[in-house]
Order: sequence, then C-alpha cells, then structure tokens
Amino acid sequence: MQKILVTGGAGFIGSHFVNRLLQRTDIERVTVLDLLTYAGNPANLSAAWDSPHLHFVHGDILDRPLVDSLLQRHDAVVHFAAESHVDRSLLDARGFLTTNVTGTQTLLEAARHAAIEKFVHVSTDEVYGPLPTGCATEDTPLRPTVPYAASKAASDLVALSYQQTYGVPVCVTRSSNNFGPRQYPEKVIPRFVTLLLQGEPVTIHGRGQHVRNWLHVEDNCAGIELVLFGGVPGQVYNIGGGTDLTTAALTELILTACGAGPGSVRYIPDRQSNDERYAMDWSKIAGTLGYQPRRPLRDHLAETVAWYRDHAARWPLPVDAVPTYAGK
Ligand code: NAD
Repeated sequence: MQKILVTGGAGFIGSHFVNRLLQRTDIERVTVLDLLTYAGNPANLSAAWDSPHLHFVHGDILDRPLVDSLLQRHDAVVHFAAESHVDRSLLDARGFLTTNVTGTQTLLEAARHAAIEKFVHVSTDEVYGPLPTGCATEDTPLRPTVPYAASKAASDLVALSYQQTYGVPVCVTRSSNNFGPRQYPEKVIPRFVTLLLQGEPVTIHGRGQHVRNWLHVEDNCAGIELVLFGGVPGQVYNIGGGTDLTTAALTELILTACGAGPGSVRYIPDRQSNDERYAMDWSKIAGTLGYQPRRPLRDHLAETVAWYRDHAARWPLPVDAVPTYAGK
C-alpha cells in the first residue's frame, strides 16, 4: 500500500496521522481530502507541507465524481472526516447525518468500484453508549445516546455492511477521547486550556462526575496505523488504554497545568443527555496487532498546554463564542 487517501487530514487526529505516514519510507503518496470546515486548518499540516509525498485536495467526501477519481488512484483509505463535536450535534443533528453517514457511504460506494486494499473507518467509543460498570468489547451492542454517537454508529454499520455485501476491505477503529496539540478548542481539554490561559473561568456540567478515558492522539494514531497495515477486513478494533478520569478530576489537572486555582471553575446544570461513563476493553488490538499506549495524560498534559500557549494566535474565534449545549 503506497498511495494512501486520508479524509479529514487537516483536522486534529487526521493531521497527526498524516505526519506519522510521512515518516514511513514505504509510502509514495499521502493525499489529504478535506473540506476545511471550521474544524479543519491547513496549518495543522504545517510539518507536512514541505514533503514531496503530500498532496492536498480541498473537497467534500460527498462529492461522488471527486471521490471516485481519487479512489481509483489510491491503494487505501483512512477515513477521519466527520462532524465530531457532541454539543453541536445536540444543537443541529442534520449535518452529522449527512457528513458522517451519507459521506461515509459515498466513500464506500466509490471504494466498491476501485481496487482498494484497505478502508479504515475511524470511529469512537461513544457508539457503545454509557456503561455503569465493565468494559465494552468489540461485540458489545451499540447503544448510542446522542446524535453524534448515533451518526457514528450508523456509519460503522454501513461500513461493515459494505465489507459483508461487496467485499470492501473495511476495518473499523473505535477510540476513546483523544487529547494533544491541534485540537479545535470546542472539546473540553483545549477549551478549558485556552479559557484558563486567557484568565477566563471554565464551566463544568453537573458535578463533573462523568468518566471518560483520555488517550493521547499519537497513541490512537499508532493503533490506526497497525490496523491499516495489519487489520483483518470485517474486524472492529477498540483503541483505548488512556487515563480514566471524571471531568472534575481532569479539570483539577488542567487547572494545575495552567497555573489556575479552583476559583476558576463554575458549575452549570447537566445537559439533557450526558453519558455517565465510557469504558472499552482494548485487549483485541493489543493481542493481535501489538498495540500498546505509551503516553499517559499526567505525563503529556503539560506539553499540550504548552502548545496552546505557543499558538494563541491560531484560534480565529474568541473561545467563548464556541457553541455549547447546556440544556433544553
Ligand atoms: P476534527 O473535527 O478535528 O476534524 C474533522 C476534519 O474533517 C476537519 O479537518 C474537517 O474539515 C473535515 N471534514 C468535515 N466534513 C468534511 C467533508 N464533508 N468532506 C471532507 N472533509 C470534511 O475531528 P477529529 O477530532 O480529528 O476526529 C477525527 C475522526 O475521529 C472523526 O471521525 C471522529 O468521529 C473520530 N474520533 C474522534 C475522537 C476525539 O477525541 N477527537 C475520538 C474518537 C473518534
């Protein structure tokens, strides 16, 4: 597999993955297909622009003629492009269904008519829904509770159906919450960090009791790379092993890393739908492909904060203008 198409490669996780691919010596071309929505930024690829192996296509995964012509010229697809912010999906779900479900199906339909060797569909632990106890394996039924997670669950099932029905060599990865540099500051870690660095308070839903697993973006990308080159078509791989924290505990770590105190925290009523806990069993990818996460949050949060401090001019919006869903 020498020519890889990466959708959403100008976004947070996709840009880290592109850099990783470009460090390999067996890749002839990495093509990024990205619509550059509010979440995509060419500057996210600044480390890659000088590479003769990088090609950038400004376009939409829903553009079938464009997608057809790209898939004919590539060996594999790694599909990151999506609407990815839960709060935005609570405000308006339609774009999530269009991009995440119909967009994915458009790519799969094009892959069906091309000689694609691997199609990695990048998904999330949120498709399993909340788990009060225990961990979701890849066989756990999908019980998404918010429109974002429902759109990802639907796209996972469509992707797997194209493997079953048409033999498209699809693998699905499901990772927990990622953190690291270059994430748009609407998600909780970059949002809190950018607010605190400006001396602004942060708001926590409910009592901050919700548990999430925080995985460094490079650990997720390492897992996706293993699936791209070694995953078995038709299989789903959970990518976890980050740090489990309540939002309150995470906030304490962020406050310390930003040099702020508890007075910078405000509590607001919980949103209508806010899953208590996500947890995944990731022994399958560890046992079959040798995946091992290496970057615990406590060791890597400071480097993430430093990146936001060093790139304060990158964010075009005042961070408090990012839409947040806080109730009905
Ligand atoms: P992101 O929002 O930072 O980036 C999404 C990218 O997709 C942007 O560059 C955007 O311009 C592009 N895009 C959106 N619509 C497009 C379209 N119609 N055509 C082409 N490009 C389009 O997202 P992210 O956080 O990097 O997430 C990437 C993938 O990983 C998503 O599929 C998401 O569901 C999944 N995921 C994210 C996390 C996380 O913690 N961020 C965790 C698990 C899974």
